[in-house]
Amino acid sequence: MPEGDTLHGLARRIAPMIGERVLSLNLPMSTQNTKHLIGYQVQNIQAHGKNLLVVFEKDWMLRVHLRMKGRALFRKRTSPPPLRFAPSVVLHLATSSWELFIRDAPVVLLARRGSFHFDELRALGPDIVADDFDVDLAIERAQGWLNVPIGEALLDQRWVAGIGNVWKSEGLFELGLDPFAPVGAFGQGEIRKLLLLLRERMRANVDGIAHRRLLIPQLNGPRITRFEAQGTKTGTLVYMRAHKPCRRCRTPILRALQGGRSTYYCPRCQPPRRSLEDNASSKCSSEPAVTPIGADLEIAPPEQIEPALHSQSR
Ligand SMILES: [Zn+2]
Repeated sequence: MPEGDTLHGLARRIAPMIGERVLSLNLPMSTQNTKHLIGYQVQNIQAHGKNLLVVFEKDWMLRVHLRMKGRALFRKRTSPPPLRFAPSVVLHLATSSWELFIRDAPVVLLARRGSFHFDELRALGPDIVADDFDVDLAIERAQGWLNVPIGEALLDQRWVAGIGNVWKSEGLFELGLDPFAPVGAFGQGEIRKLLLLLRERMRANVDGIAHRRLLIPQLNGPRITRFEAQGTKTGTLVYMRAHKPCRRCRTPILRALQGGRSTYYCPRCQPPRRSLEDNASSKCSSEPAVTPIGADLEIAPPEQIEPALHSQSR
């Protein structure tokens, strides 16, 4: 499933439509009337988590979620908008100079911005790729997931929006964190480090994605990781590498189902973690006392909640 970096890349790619007027908008799989949008200006295009949002004049908004199979094609418009579409096309938007096709996306919704149709969007957590991502807010919100395995919690878009299955496995591996331990077993410093690492990696990908003409689901081309320079096929550290040797310790990578989704991890680099104390005593006894997630953020100045623990492997 395309993750937040892909959606931000797509939003950036189709940004030239901003300021142009709608020539036609077709939602072939929907009964929604779209005629009234003709002539309206495209005012904004943005991503929130895994959603693409196109905002038109008079507060009309289009929400697209690509889920597993959705694809987008964006190009200069050279001919009049087509009269008929392939069955896979769920959205065609033409402006004076551009056209956007979305195929196979199950969620395409046009409604007024404030309407209940967008309640799901309002429930989303802060967008990890967005310019204004607030890591402190994200750490505070972790309170709601203390008992949830971190590998599942990272995918819950209500905590933090944008992280998907690939980045989840990659980020946890990079910091040597056990995907099966509950969020409450990690220190604030660890969660901060993890979220900021994922943000950095995902933001580094946005540009590359924004330059692709056809946005394919799944891996969306090579992701930028430390190992990309070695010419690896997927460019991932652990994702889709089950049974292959860990890039750090050569132990075979494992795959396990977690909340119905695959988690890839190295059993050696990401040792089991049962609780915060467990980790603090066994791995980092020389480190300062661990500040648990949700400890009083108002009181602790930022320097005190900086990484409470170092990852085990580095
Ligand atoms: Zn390893």
